[in-house]
Amino acid sequence: MTPRTKVMEPGYLALYRTGELEHRTEAIWARLSYCDICPRECGVNRLVGELGFCHSGQLPVISAVCAHHGEEPAISGSRGSGTIFFGNCNLRCVYCQNYQISQNPEAQQSKEVSIHTLAEHMLYLQDELGCHNINFVSPSHFVPQMVQAVLEAVPMGLRLPLVYNTSSYDSILSLQELDGIISVYLADLRYASNKWGRKLSQVSDYVERARTAIQEMYSQVGDLVVDDEGIAQRGLIVRHLVLPNRLAGSRDSLTWLVRDVSPAVTVSIMSQYSPVHRASRIPLLLRTISLAEYSEVTRLVDELGLENGWLQDRDTSKNYLPDFTKERFPFSSTNKVT
Ligand code: SF4
Repeated sequence: MTPRTKVMEPGYLALYRTGELEHRTEAIWARLSYCDICPRECGVNRLVGELGFCHSGQLPVISAVCAHHGEEPAISGSRGSGTIFFGNCNLRCVYCQNYQISQNPEAQQSKEVSIHTLAEHMLYLQDELGCHNINFVSPSHFVPQMVQAVLEAVPMGLRLPLVYNTSSYDSILSLQELDGIISVYLADLRYASNKWGRKLSQVSDYVERARTAIQEMYSQVGDLVVDDEGIAQRGLIVRHLVLPNRLAGSRDSLTWLVRDVSPAVTVSIMSQYSPVHRASRIPLLLRTISLAEYSEVTRLVDELGLENGWLQDRDTSKNYLPDFTKERFPFSSTNKVT
């Protein structure tokens, strides 16, 4: 059972008052000059426009800003999650449902904004749309820009909890800078085998990196805590997208989660896989998942004693596909995670 609490003050406000937020911002911003912001450690100087694997320079690329009603109930609530989609990515998933913005750096160049504009986006989501939180999607390659914008947004009135919505291919050093700034980690656990990470996401060490990152996130925020309305205030939620033909290694990944993180961890078991983008080139990824495949994973959840979290309606593979040509309304679905 998920513990409930009164609405908590997000930790970044105290860090701002003590000057620690400014100190953290300076430290992580300096790392852009030899970029090791994510585990790729490209070593490029993004401050002078050099580009590494993520094709991202000094300014944040913001591809969409909206109230999202299709996240987990504790994230979307009744008023929506204030979602900010960063453009580009440090992975290259062949089945990426956000491929319009994550895998097309030339087109995203026009979406570069100032830090001040990013701060204004947060205030828009908080004050004009009334969202429950600020939800940064695919932030791993833009952590310094995100933190700098939070520093700027606090005196403008920002007070919502921050959600870090990540593939989990994150640097431990970068995550440590986020300790106390992020209230909720919404972290993917994609593969249990580096063979599939390499083939499907162009990453050679996903398993070790993501597992270490998730342990770091859990050590910072612990189990999910919600307020009286059931809205997440703090904690870790692990998302596991079931892939066809057991390519996600569900048994291995969820067993690891129970053994090396906690059986009390909150999980979101997702059935929304759809063969978009380049998935049609991989015969094993050509279809949505079957009822038998999803049932196998839900039985496993029971077997492992994972009691906290959500399962997704099975018929969701189309509902969840965003269209980023509609920047303020990329999603047509309502909340279907139960
Ligand atoms: S954030 Fe981008 S440039 Fe920096 S290490 Fe990662 S992929 Fe390379």
